[in-house]
Amino acid sequence: MLLVVALTPRRYAACPSPEGRGVETGGGLMHEPLMLDMRPDCERCGADLPAQAPGAFICSFECTFCAECAEALDERCPNCGGELMDRPTRTGKALAGNPAVTSRRFQS
Ligand SMILES: [Zn+2]
Ligand SMILES: [Zn+2]
Repeated sequence: MLLVVALTPRRYAACPSPEGRGVETGGGLMHEPLMLDMRPDCERCGADLPAQAPGAFICSFECTFCAECAEALDERCPNCGGELMDRPTRTGKALAGNPAVTSRRFQS
């Protein structure tokens, strides 16, 4: 599973992907585990958002924002228009077995 996560850059495509998730044409992989990316930063301001810490907000496409940006955005994702919800944390064994992604979304 770790390899799958590491080797599938398409997971980091732009937010409203018309393809949806977990579909790979021509490959054997049909379904990915239902698991959040746990992105490491706010894509609006670049603030650190560790997986084990509360205070991150995501839309249904996992666009990820810090609390301040979510508030500034009126809790609406600027990419897809969906609402931003509290991201659950991932801690301990769950985090060790399923590490958060490391590719940052924020580009200054
Ligand atoms: Zn932010
Ligand atoms: Zn979005």
